[in-house]
Amino acid sequence: MADNDNKKIADLLFPHIDKTVEYYLKKYPSRNLKEGVEVTRVAPSPTGYMHIGGVFQALINSQISKHSGGIFYLRNEDTDSKREVLGAADIFIPALNGFGIYPDEGFISQTEEKGDYGPYIQSKRKEIYQTFAKELVSRGCAYPCFCEKEDEEAKKEQARLGVPTGYYGKWAKCRDLTYEQIKANIDAGKKFTIRIKANGDGKKRFIFEDLRIGKTSLPVNMNDYVVLKSDGQAVYHMAHLVDDTLMHTTTVVRDESWFPSVPLHIQMFEYMGFKAPKYLHTPTVNTIDKETGNSRKVSKRKDDWADSRFFHRVGYPKNAIVDYLMNLINSNYEVWREANPKAGVYEFPFSAENMSKSSALFDMAKIDNISKNVIAMMSGEELYVNLITWAKEYCPEIVSTLEKDKNYTISVLGMDKNEARPRKDITTYSEIKDFYSYMFADWYKNEYPFAEKLKKEDIQKAVLEYAKEYNHKDTKEEWFARMKKVATSCNFATDNKLYKQNPEQYAGNMADFAGIIRIVVTGRAQTPDLYSIMQILGEKEVLSRLNAKF
Ligand code: GLU
Repeated sequence: MADNDNKKIADLLFPHIDKTVEYYLKKYPSRNLKEGVEVTRVAPSPTGYMHIGGVFQALINSQISKHSGGIFYLRNEDTDSKREVLGAADIFIPALNGFGIYPDEGFISQTEEKGDYGPYIQSKRKEIYQTFAKELVSRGCAYPCFCEKEDEEAKKEQARLGVPTGYYGKWAKCRDLTYEQIKANIDAGKKFTIRIKANGDGKKRFIFEDLRIGKTSLPVNMNDYVVLKSDGQAVYHMAHLVDDTLMHTTTVVRDESWFPSVPLHIQMFEYMGFKAPKYLHTPTVNTIDKETGNSRKVSKRKDDWADSRFFHRVGYPKNAIVDYLMNLINSNYEVWREANPKAGVYEFPFSAENMSKSSALFDMAKIDNISKNVIAMMSGEELYVNLITWAKEYCPEIVSTLEKDKNYTISVLGMDKNEARPRKDITTYSEIKDFYSYMFADWYKNEYPFAEKLKKEDIQKAVLEYAKEYNHKDTKEEWFARMKKVATSCNFATDNKLYKQNPEQYAGNMADFAGIIRIVVTGRAQTPDLYSIMQILGEKEVLSRLNAKF
């Protein structure tokens, strides 16, 4: 077909498009960044939540840009109107910020954005996509397709013949329509999509280098894929070409499910005479299915944590999750973190080449472990600030109790923290209320869960005698010696060997005695160090609990 015809077809299809590709290239000029400076982006689709895999990608993107002194932006990929969910901004921004990830530029809300390369919301870029589609048509690289739906007959025939399925070669019915045929269809009010005119034959290959996967040989694209939908909105492929060109993305980090589309994307960049960005395809985040024991994709239906807000709601410290994701990204992160427990995540010498080649297997047990460590490392003050921040948003009903006496709460939260090996009891902020409920009058409730083998009169005697003897000024050693003394006087065996030989001669052993006091003071059989607890509770409260009726 003559060039002139292609131009005529382009005008016929897009009469309302009066701008040109050049116009947009001028409007969004090069960012003038120094060699090696990276522009990256995260481009989630609004599905009503931010998938943890999206956070994983955002983190890689922000690492790449930060390490080069570049720019990391957020784009809202909402071209799929069937899946469009309003309120995307209320979801993306808090989800990312909640993990300490702050885009430098981009989509902020449906009406707000930051940066000179917008709109950063694809539904507002329809005209730009159409301008590029028009250009591709006028270059003879794309054409209108009037086929209404997938040609099932053709698929069957292709399967019968053992040839690849798809819209290509002789199966591409609309590929060679003349201007007149196209005009007749348009005049008849027929809707069209725009398809790319592939130039591969399924045999020709090219070498492609992915930043994580390395060099691979891929077939040149042979399928005439749809790039613009019949409603004039872009398909991902078109949006990727246009947006990543005009926003000057240097490295595209995206899920490996996009890897098979690389030949198409490379072809589209070539057709336009643009330089394709570098690509880094990330492993899909998988998990081990509890029922089958097999690895599978993380699913919102089966894994409540697939929605990254789960971690905020439940109160995992954000750096625990970030540390975990970084472990998945770079296997040498864990060693670095051990050597640099307090360093910021961007101090890690990140490099895309060191990224793990294997799949990313998400393991909640490991996250819990990291989270316990992170909380254990926090001082009482740090934990207080983090807990209050979390509670104000997700559990406001506990705030007033925690804030009533700030210093008191800090000492509770800092209990046993100065040890060489701090206790690792707490996994999330939401556990703290229950864990320390006995430290706060508002929450304290005692059901006296004594061991069944102990006799009521022995328990009562032990508590009565201990209450009489209790001295709040005791050092830890004195406190323990006093306990032993009272235990002995109440016929609890302080020598466990003797006790084991003749248990029936005693009311119990020393552990039983300490257990009784622990339960009377806290209502729990297990707690952090009882001496610390009693010291923090204060003399009045301890005595009132020891003297309470039960
Ligand atoms: N919206 C695409 C997705 O969610 C983005 C892919 C990309 O980052 O290029 O898969």
